[in-house]
Amino acid sequence: MKIKIIGSGGCVSTPRPCCDCRVCKEAREKGFPYARTGCSIYIEEIALLIDTPEDINYALNHAGVSKVEHVLYSHADPDHTMGMRVFEQLKMDWLGCSVGKMNEKPIEVQALPKVIEELREQKIFRGSVLDYYEWRGLVTVNDSYRIEKGDICIDLIPVNESEEVAVFVITQRDKKVIYAPCDVKPFPKNERFMGADVLIIGNTIVGNVLKDGFVLEQDNPLREELFVMEEIEALKAKYGIKQVIITHLEEDWGKSYDDYVELEKEYEGIRFAYDGMEVEL
Ligand SMILES: [Zn+2]
Ligand SMILES: [Zn+2]
Repeated sequence: MKIKIIGSGGCVSTPRPCCDCRVCKEAREKGFPYARTGCSIYIEEIALLIDTPEDINYALNHAGVSKVEHVLYSHADPDHTMGMRVFEQLKMDWLGCSVGKMNEKPIEVQALPKVIEELREQKIFRGSVLDYYEWRGLVTVNDSYRIEKGDICIDLIPVNESEEVAVFVITQRDKKVIYAPCDVKPFPKNERFMGADVLIIGNTIVGNVLKDGFVLEQDNPLREELFVMEEIEALKAKYGIKQVIITHLEEDWGKSYDDYVELEKEYEGIRFAYDGMEVEL
């Protein structure tokens, strides 16, 4: 199985527009891997993309992706979905359309039932954006808890009873990858996570000193919402996970690509994602 990290950035990608902090300046000068687009991954064998942040078009070009046949959504938050117009970029053929030609291979869009419901709520003045792409024949839309393509199986495990966010368990033969990009705290309890080869996880604050020297105090409410590194280490130990890759890296963490490379040395089996990173199992 070959997984590409298409985008490793957070809710705010790097460089942040108009920001002249050290990290953004360097990202602007050097480009990737110092720059980070919104959070998404791609499974090469089955041409499957998870999430479409607003800069996905640019990110797919950077990652050298040659086709997208399936799109899964982790949840409906804008930082993971506002690039939905990529369906048009990928599939719209205005010239063919003008002579009555229909798109022959729509993209299969899938997510948890509640997430599909929320995605359909994303509207412009004409109505639901997703409904429009479906009507245009650019996509087909289905809710699902499990997707099987060839010998790859993906389980969508709801984070809690509201079922508004999924953790993905991706298996191929004896290999297992967990993808948990956002809003996954508290982390759901599930036997399926045991012994995974790789956990790719977002939702983590990296370091106690952040952008512009901001010190993350013990009582800061972000600690409730996001994991800290010790919690990631505990999760890794609890489920016997071989390797963890931390993604959804916010510009607010105030760290450059080089800083993350340096920081990796302090942890056993924990790495930090960058755009274009490949995970091969
Ligand atoms: Zn900045
Ligand atoms: Zn997010």
